[in-house]
Amino acid sequence: MKRVGVIGGGLGGLASACTLAARGHSVVLFEKNGWLGGKAAVLEQDGFRFDMGPTILTVPSVLKRIFAEAGRDLNDALDLVRLDPQWRSFFDDGTTLDLVASVDSMHQTLSEYSGSATADGYARFIDYSKRLHRISENWFFWRSIGGLRDMFDARNMTKAGTLGDVLAMRMGRSVASTVRSFVPDARVAQMVDHFTQYVGSAPDASPAVLCGIAHMQTQEGVWYPRGGTAAIPAALQKLAEDLGVEIHLGADVRRITHTSAKVTGVELKSGAQIKLDAVVSNSDVVRTHRDLLGGVKKFERRRKYEPACSGVVLYLGLRRRQPQLLHHNFVFSADPHEEFDAIYRRGEPAEDPTCYVCAPARTESGVAPAGGEALYVLVHTPYLRGHHDWPRMLPGYREVILEKLRRTAGLELEAEVVTESSLTPLDIHNRYRVLKGAIYGLASHGKWTGAFKPGNRSPDLRGLYFAGGAAHPGPGMPMVLMSGWIAADALDMDSAGSRTVRRRVPVGASS
Ligand SMILES: Cc1cc2nc3c(=O)[nH]c(=O)nc-3n(C[C@H](O)[C@H](O)[C@H](O)COP(=O)(O)OP(=O)(O)OC[C@H]3O[C@@H](n4cnc5c(N)ncnc54)[C@H](O)[C@@H]3O)c2cc1C
Repeated sequence: MKRVGVIGGGLGGLASACTLAARGHSVVLFEKNGWLGGKAAVLEQDGFRFDMGPTILTVPSVLKRIFAEAGRDLNDALDLVRLDPQWRSFFDDGTTLDLVASVDSMHQTLSEYSGSATADGYARFIDYSKRLHRISENWFFWRSIGGLRDMFDARNMTKAGTLGDVLAMRMGRSVASTVRSFVPDARVAQMVDHFTQYVGSAPDASPAVLCGIAHMQTQEGVWYPRGGTAAIPAALQKLAEDLGVEIHLGADVRRITHTSAKVTGVELKSGAQIKLDAVVSNSDVVRTHRDLLGGVKKFERRRKYEPACSGVVLYLGLRRRQPQLLHHNFVFSADPHEEFDAIYRRGEPAEDPTCYVCAPARTESGVAPAGGEALYVLVHTPYLRGHHDWPRMLPGYREVILEKLRRTAGLELEAEVVTESSLTPLDIHNRYRVLKGAIYGLASHGKWTGAFKPGNRSPDLRGLYFAGGAAHPGPGMPMVLMSGWIAADALDMDSAGSRTVRRRVPVGASS
């Protein structure tokens, strides 16, 4: 068994640490901040409690699988509440549409909202999405993949089923064009292709295979952990401690030490040197190479990656509940093409942005003083460019956001605010040490290869693994947790001298 170091206590690092410890390895985790969970942080202010980062939990079976590695039941560790309707959509034409999990109910709703072509198209789209989800489960998830060649090996490529799967992926086509080939109503198409915002990427530049995200959500649902998202890292921390993981907070790793062939340990900012057999880095993959391994050239020679989008979050403690809101809401831009062009091509905040609004007091009243609302508003922005000066830009952009919420969702918030805080791309960059303030790691841009992120096993150094939103299979809580599991599994297999997948928990636990 190995002595393993995990750099970073985000959800990816915690998932790796728990999986490795459950398999008998000796694990030490280093986190530079004073809390675990990374972006899944919490803000308590004047009697209000806000999740600071992720709020939409999907595919909880991944979390379940991590607990099952240690023979534990997720339900003993977390109280998960299912939310259905999953979101409320507010459109620029003044209409609203609730997304519910049941495809039959959505068919009924869409028939009334837009007519049978859109209702039928939505149902066919979810069917297609289901196929893509199955392809991901079969070929993409639960193992280290860095590109198409890792996904389908040459022998399998000749099988009829495999070729069918490759064709179904519609390589070379985008999410936006695929969605619109099923769904004629522009508003419903805008709602459906917004799933690519879960990975911080433009729908017209992302590969069609990402249409599979829709079925992941309709199948397993949207969940809220009582206590807020921060209850997830708290439960993982408890699991890690029970399994004997040594946790060091305020421990900033300065460098990964290594020979030309293999990892030998880490060096902390304090100067301490720790000898290790292997390292899992939960720090951004590009920054791991640049900051901790001394250079990104060799890594970038294989492929150059672009950061995903960043974002501005307003945390607004309100005097009163806003009755038109559900727990999760999207207040959509009038023109998604113009919006995504600003964010993803021109590198400027959108003038008419889509706002994601989370109002968790509906599900857990304790997040705000009696009758109040702990409102969370997230707007995606470009990743940090040289000319972005967010301390100067924030006050003006706050006005743009509040005006958008007033105009499209009828939310008159200014007079209701009793306490307030915010998070800008620069804050995200500094707090979590990400690439150019990116919220979701690396963008999924590229209609052929956009879905592929760096694999979880370093091709350069033995004993080095990657977990987190910038590694395979990508960003968002379920994928990041899976990435932690894959990195741990790869390390465990390598330490046993076997590349045969040792699945302690049957695959399919997630479907
Ligand atoms: C505002 C916002 C909203 C989001 N909304 C959602 C959502 O609704 N649903 C969803 O699924 N996802 C959402 N996400 C994305 C989700 O939060 C991330 O994909 C996920 O939490 C990332 O986890 P991670 O483990 O990759 O990285 P992080 O959470 O960034 O953790 C990495 C950790 O490594 C530490 N670290 C880095 N370098 C070092 C070093 N050298 N030494 C020691 N420690 C180091 C950092 O301090 C950090 O704690 C959101 C993110 C944000 C910011």
